[in-house]
Amino acid sequence: MAAIQGTLPLTYTRIKRGCKRKMTEQENGDGGASTVPEGGEELRTFDALGLSPERLAAVEAEGWTDPTPIQRKAIPSAIQGKDVVGIAQTGTGKTGAFILPSLERIEAGKGLQLLVLCPTRELAQQVAEDARALARGSTLRAEFVVGGVGYGPQTEAFRAGYEIIAATPGRFNDHMGQGKVDLGNLRVLVLDEADRMLDMGFRPQIEEVLQRSPRTRQTMLFSATMPDGVHALALRVTRDPVWVQAAPGTTTAEGITERVYPVKPEKKPDLLLHLLGETGWDQVLVFTRTKAGADTLKGRLDRAGIQADVMHGDREMRHRTRALDRFASGSVRVLVATDVAQRGLDVEGISHVVNYDVPLDPDDYVHRIGRTARAGAAGTAVTFVAAEDFGRLKSIERLVGRSLDRVHLAEFDFGGAPTSEEEQARKAAARHARSSKGMGSRDPGELSPEELDALLRP
Ligand code: AMP
Repeated sequence: MAAIQGTLPLTYTRIKRGCKRKMTEQENGDGGASTVPEGGEELRTFDALGLSPERLAAVEAEGWTDPTPIQRKAIPSAIQGKDVVGIAQTGTGKTGAFILPSLERIEAGKGLQLLVLCPTRELAQQVAEDARALARGSTLRAEFVVGGVGYGPQTEAFRAGYEIIAATPGRFNDHMGQGKVDLGNLRVLVLDEADRMLDMGFRPQIEEVLQRSPRTRQTMLFSATMPDGVHALALRVTRDPVWVQAAPGTTTAEGITERVYPVKPEKKPDLLLHLLGETGWDQVLVFTRTKAGADTLKGRLDRAGIQADVMHGDREMRHRTRALDRFASGSVRVLVATDVAQRGLDVEGISHVVNYDVPLDPDDYVHRIGRTARAGAAGTAVTFVAAEDFGRLKSIERLVGRSLDRVHLAEFDFGGAPTSEEEQARKAAARHARSSKGMGSRDPGELSPEELDALLRP
């Protein structure tokens, strides 16, 4: 983990569409009898959070000068062993918020005591690496346990009693099923990106881990969004938790310039090549909706002589790791990815994020663009919008609470954003199509991604 100076950008925190629920004062730590520190002046330094000299030295070695808001709020309570529910996404410093206090509560030589379950391999690896960095100066050992790679080193980590494991639930359960895992000494269980784990269908594996881990454990649950399912899980698995939120009510990501390019679908590759010709497009992360789309685009970039790599769920772990390494080290300029790379991808210096395809779920827009402007740097997020994507763009704008700047380039544009008459005509046509598909007469922005998909299908 590289040293980073300065404060982190505030990133989006929101409640998933259709599952809106407001945090109570006590939940967000801003009132009532909550024990959550207010993050007042006295807690603005790491010194004030109750960390040991060893951890303070590790934090300093990381180059972290001040705790981020989520760290200020979570660490003092978590050090005391209190359960924590955090609404925070990657980029807010949440990993430090759960690793640092956990490190104060575990001891070398006592077997597995900190288990972090993560939705993706990349995130698990990142968490294990962060844990190693922050455990600097101790003999605590950390390993990541994920699918797609050999069992050998993972089995060895369990056998040798590594104190810290960051794992994806599927592979962790495989090891558990083979009787290799002793959860008897587990002190802290962290469910990281809980919303994503549930979306990915990991509930049975999570339940199994919960059932097998000691009742006396401390539990921390972090989630970028708090739909009802995650909220219910949080209430069930934690005891009298402290609720913390990364940036209550924040709907802008500081440091990110956002632009929308209306484009004819067939002109998307040319538009991307055009933009890559502009200055400053140094490290570019491009999101496509499908794996095939990612491969095709990579081919196109190759033919144009642009160094690019591709990362999606069909690629083996070692290829994904290699693609990420090459991108992070700057030996390839463009990484084309599907949403597999969206979270847990912690690369510093991404100058541009390109939504080559508009994401189906507006939440994904927020997660994707959060990959740029990391740790206080500036970044640009551009979104290619074809005529048929305007409904989705509206949903995104509603979610982020502002309209995004349009840039019209005549060469690529499909003829400008729809005029109000065109918009009226499109809406009328959509209403007609919807009524024939039994969707009533709702605006596209009110439809779920699945409904929209069905609607847009020819
Ligand atoms: P996370 O939200 O845990 O994925 O962290 C995002 C990035 O911020 C990582 O690169 C961390 O190393 C970095 N980071 C975490 N805490 C701090 C801090 N207090 N000061 C500066 N950078 C930090």
